[in-house]
Amino acid sequence: MSLRVLERLRRTFGFRLTLWYAAIFILSSLALFILAYFFLASSLRQKDHELIRSRLREVEAEYLTDGLKGIRQELKMDREVGKPNNFFIRLAGPTNHTIFLNLPDRWGGFSLKSLEAGAGSRAVWTRLGSKDDENGLEIVTSRMANGAILQVGKDTESREDLLETFRGIFFGGILVIIVLGFGAGQFLTWRALAPIRQLIATVSTIADTGKVQARLSAIHTDDEFAELSRLVNRMLARIETLITGMKNTLDNVAHDLRTPMTRLRGMAEMALAGNGSPTACREALADCLEESERVLAMLNTLMDISEAETGTLHLNLKRVNLPEILASVIELYAYVAEDKQITLESNCPSELYLTGDPERLRQTLANLLDNAIKYSPESGKVTIEAWDRPDQVVIRVKDQGPGIAPAEIPRIWDRLYRGDESRSQRGLGLGLSLVKAIVAAHHGQVEVASQPGLGSEFSVYLPKQLSLTSL
Ligand code: ADP
Repeated sequence: MSLRVLERLRRTFGFRLTLWYAAIFILSSLALFILAYFFLASSLRQKDHELIRSRLREVEAEYLTDGLKGIRQELKMDREVGKPNNFFIRLAGPTNHTIFLNLPDRWGGFSLKSLEAGAGSRAVWTRLGSKDDENGLEIVTSRMANGAILQVGKDTESREDLLETFRGIFFGGILVIIVLGFGAGQFLTWRALAPIRQLIATVSTIADTGKVQARLSAIHTDDEFAELSRLVNRMLARIETLITGMKNTLDNVAHDLRTPMTRLRGMAEMALAGNGSPTACREALADCLEESERVLAMLNTLMDISEAETGTLHLNLKRVNLPEILASVIELYAYVAEDKQITLESNCPSELYLTGDPERLRQTLANLLDNAIKYSPESGKVTIEAWDRPDQVVIRVKDQGPGIAPAEIPRIWDRLYRGDESRSQRGLGLGLSLVKAIVAAHHGQVEVASQPGLGSEFSVYLPKQLSLTSL
């Protein structure tokens, strides 16, 4: 593996995570081993000390009953029954001169000089080191009532052997622990990072191909990765909607501009090809101006609709009193209604508060009222009602116009759709699309009930409370 690959590997999160796993695993295993070692050593020592003390009590009892003879008798009996000679016994006079010594041959390596020099005559426990190995002789001292000193001891060989075996297992095991630590670390890291690898693969596919339809496959856990995957999928879905929306808008605009632009061009061409009279030119220019205004209005509305549909329409949310907005819209259309002798009837309370964008709501109501007046016959009646429900405000615009055929109803919300009967009226076929998009941007609904020949009834349902975060 080249140095550069190693360096790159070292910088990956997976490598760092593996190192952490391995380090924690190895260190905790080490700590456990060390703890077990000290626990074992201490309990073995305690056991040895108990044995020595109990032997001391036996020898002391013999001495107090039968003196030195008693001790010798005891050892002889032990030899006769085949008991191993496992204990060091020293009896010394009050001045610490040795009177009796039982030192098994195998402990010849221990120097007793320090004992004779007074070591242990005061301390309870003494340890003599061996000249040859790690082995030690642990001795407990008891000073009896007559001043004599009795010392009993035992070597630590069996204990040391056991601990050495334990250390051997430990040093052999450390290699296994290191391999296991890195192996388990690598495996856990690989598993834990699987969703990230999937994320990288999906995102790079999107980056390479530009296809935002790709999605992360569902993670069936309830952890942070599942949340991240859900969020990324939501983000991708939103991006897809935005891109599709933009593409559709562009297609629509291109398609729908073609007709008015051709008309504009035709007018200009006709004016140029004509006799050049100033009146004809003025008329052509006026027509061009009117047509370009229509194009501009159409463009603006199309942009508003696509922004509202893709969720990018900026809503200037405020607490608004709906009847005030209604009143201003009714005032705006009063002259148009009067022209057609249409009665405008408003039926709503003086206060009806909700959170919304006042300008966009005005635009919505204006479009509904505009249609109601536009499609009403002369001397008809248009009614505007508003009332509130626990969480909603309802607005209804009713007219006595021609109504809408049931088959037409689903299509009236489409962009640029105009009913056959309506073509004689001015209009772009965008009013209801804009109404629907704005109402949806306010998290509301709009619906229509209509009976051909009897009139139409458009109802808008808007939530009273709307927070910016819920948009
Ligand atoms: P426009 O009014 O400019 O044609 P709209 O999007 O506002 O476009 O309406 C789409 C179609 O729905 C209209 O062309 C008309 O056929 C029908 N429509 C809308 N409002 C009414 C109404 N109040 N009465 C009858 N038909 C209506």
